[in-house]
Amino acid sequence: MISIVTPVYNEEGNVVYFHDEVTKVMKELAMDYEIIYVNDGSRDRTDELIHQLADRDPHVRALTFARNFGHQIAITCGMDFAKGDAVITMDGDMQHPPALIPKLIEKWQEGYDIVQTIRTATEDAGFLKKITSSGYYAVINSISTTRVVPGGSDFRLMDRKALNTFLKFREHSRFIRGIVGGLGFRQTSIEFEAPARHAGVSKFSMKKMIHFAMDGIITNSTIPLRISFYIGLLSAFAGFLLILHVLYCVITGQAVPGWATMTILISIFGSLNLMCLGILGEYIGHVFEETRNRPLYWLSDDSAAHEDNPYYKT
Ligand code: UDP
Ligand code: MG
Repeated sequence: MISIVTPVYNEEGNVVYFHDEVTKVMKELAMDYEIIYVNDGSRDRTDELIHQLADRDPHVRALTFARNFGHQIAITCGMDFAKGDAVITMDGDMQHPPALIPKLIEKWQEGYDIVQTIRTATEDAGFLKKITSSGYYAVINSISTTRVVPGGSDFRLMDRKALNTFLKFREHSRFIRGIVGGLGFRQTSIEFEAPARHAGVSKFSMKKMIHFAMDGIITNSTIPLRISFYIGLLSAFAGFLLILHVLYCVITGQAVPGWATMTILISIFGSLNLMCLGILGEYIGHVFEETRNRPLYWLSDDSAAHEDNPYYKT
């Protein structure tokens, strides 16, 4: 059986169309399947629509979060509940073309455990998103221990074996691409061009993008901490040279009122300090969040849904 997991957040213009398209593809494949919609706290008619789909199509399971938990957590929830031998995660806005599903399954049947997709282009991505995205992948790959494929998306197939391992990773701030990349198993990838959204606008605000990008780096590597240490070391060395210089000036009697130097130094070292503190703060924040040990998500209709989910911590 194949499980398809789709997070939906204010996608009233897309869910029904998406559902029809995926259903067409799955019917043609003649395999048993389920489609799990995770409503990530939508404020439009998305919830009503996925429950209607669930009522008339036995293949559908509709899960509703009590609030917005974010795309990565929504995918995780869908995977927690999935019963398939392989699970495909894909966006509900048609940017992950359902037509690619048979190709993913083909690779899986060839024996691959993880079939990743790579965006070669995104139709409606602006110039800014393109350059920030490629710059970001360069940075994260230079500092993280496992490779994150540039253009990687959360459109992928995972075999039950790999999935069960993935589901043991319960961190709150998660960069699924990074985790999956580091899982091992037999991985392969296929390329695709992401078309423009079917309806609506991107649900990733600038703020969400930045937080997602930071989580990706912070949860993947501790190298930024080390970098801040080296920056400190470098500035200590510069400070030492400066002291020598000042001593020399004092000895040779050419000490002048160093107001300019003082101001510059204070502002440089002040901002360096704050920057390094900020990096530290990011890590401590994550430590705090993880140690609270809260569940990753909770559903609006608790009870039954959680019972058959072994991964949901109470
Ligand atoms: N999404 C979600 N929670 C969020 C933001 C997005 O579940 O907080 C879903 C959204 O409904 C879509 C997928 O995640 O199915 C990808 O989001 P979007 O298309 O807005 O991202 P983009 O393609 O612009 O990166
Ligand atoms: Mg999209």
